[in-house]
Amino acid sequence: MESIRNTIDGAMVDPIGGHWIENVEPATGAVCGRIAASDELDVQAAVDAAERAFPDWSARSAAERGSLLHHLADAVEAETESLARMESIDNGKPIDLARNVDIPRAVTNLRFFADAGVGSRTETHVTEGAAINTVLREPIGVVGLISPWNLPLYLLTWKIAPALIMGNTCVAKPSELTPVTAARLGELAIAVGFPPGVLNIIHGSGQAAGEAIVTHPRIRAVSFTGGTDTGARIATAAAPHFKKLSLELGGKNPNIIFEDADLDTALRMSLRSSFANQGQICLCGSRILAHHAVYDRVVESIVAGAKELRIGDPLEDTTQQGALVSQSHRDKVAHCVDLARNEGGDVLCGGSAPGDLPERCRGGFFYEPTVITGLPMDAKTNSREIFGPVVTITPFASQEEAIEMANATDYGLSASIWTTDADRIHAVAAGIEAGTVWVNCWMLRDLRVPFGGVKHSGVGREGGEDGMRFFTEPKTICEATST
Ligand code: NAD
Repeated sequence: MESIRNTIDGAMVDPIGGHWIENVEPATGAVCGRIAASDELDVQAAVDAAERAFPDWSARSAAERGSLLHHLADAVEAETESLARMESIDNGKPIDLARNVDIPRAVTNLRFFADAGVGSRTETHVTEGAAINTVLREPIGVVGLISPWNLPLYLLTWKIAPALIMGNTCVAKPSELTPVTAARLGELAIAVGFPPGVLNIIHGSGQAAGEAIVTHPRIRAVSFTGGTDTGARIATAAAPHFKKLSLELGGKNPNIIFEDADLDTALRMSLRSSFANQGQICLCGSRILAHHAVYDRVVESIVAGAKELRIGDPLEDTTQQGALVSQSHRDKVAHCVDLARNEGGDVLCGGSAPGDLPERCRGGFFYEPTVITGLPMDAKTNSREIFGPVVTITPFASQEEAIEMANATDYGLSASIWTTDADRIHAVAAGIEAGTVWVNCWMLRDLRVPFGGVKHSGVGREGGEDGMRFFTEPKTICEATST
């Protein structure tokens, strides 16, 4: 049985307390390995190692740090196929998605920050006749990085790369549901020559390992991606320590289709944004809002498309819908659909576990792509994040109503709008409360732009300069020029 060990101080080590958690393969429901159940002792060892590594690491040039990140990117890229297989087994996602999105994006994250972090970020301001102010951007020290299960290596490297390039050392914790590629990343970091203690990866539960990171007095900043409720707990636990926090949280994103949209493209992309990764992407468009002139066609097309998606063994190249990540998550999704029925919603397709699965997958955590109509925006189904293969479709009558409906949740991560009217693009984009508004596209990502949410979708921004700045503290040196 495979053991997922911690990476601490340049070595792969067992948890100090000797406790392990079972790792379950979502597509089969079978135990496929064991994961270090780390606690505050392991976090302490990682913090000690990261502190020892910090002076040398932060004193190196960004180009030197970037060169090691490039070596790590090369090593990940060379193992794309086996890492994609690991991700698919660990998460339940179709291997095609892991091969073409998750692992390539992890490589791109490492390369992007390896290059983007090089070059001085020092600012100078002259106070006329009095002083010259130099603003240095110094690394923070030891930082904590906590990531979720839906895009495991993709989101972990999205944090590790900017933290390291800016000169920090890390204690990172992937989700206990999907730790396998992170453990391999730790081995690869050792193999390509990262100095011991620069990148420490701790496995285990949020309560034991995660909270030990969040409350550790010598971890000065925490970058977290995960659920909104967890984000609130982390913010509360971190507050007495005055830690710097970046919180990337949940979403309930509107996908607005106007009557003048290029409907073929809008419908093709809306199907993808509803069900990609079984709807387990924070950016999924889980609420389709359709102008009443095109509503019937939208419903017909999305229902037909959902029924055609091939559900099956995630390790098959042709599978389009794999398993949900865990039994409890599948139960939560099923509960949300039951709630939608109780709220008066019409479940037009899906709404249960699929019947005919391959033999190997009979014990897996699958759920059919589900389309629900007939619910107002204030229904729980339309306002709470489900994070599964469930989409609602709701008609609107006017641009103003579409904006009002789009904003009728506590979340504000992203939105998509589909229209060919240039005036409308700007008016609607301006009216929507979200960190990103896609116009005639979805999930088109330029890593230079700020990424994050408003309202309950988060605090702060990752990506580009914002992402790197988070991992620094500005220090102003004010030098008098006349006395
Ligand atoms: P989660 O909040 O349950 O867990 C995320 C991570 O936090 C895991 O590593 C977990 O072990 C850890 N954790 C849990 N409790 C903790 C605690 N008390 N202290 C410290 N760490 C703790 O989220 P999840 O179920 O893994 O991921 C799904 C959620 O993530 C969804 O809500 C989704 O929208 C969100 N998400 C957001 C983004 C974004 O960029 N905004 C991206 C991906 C996923």
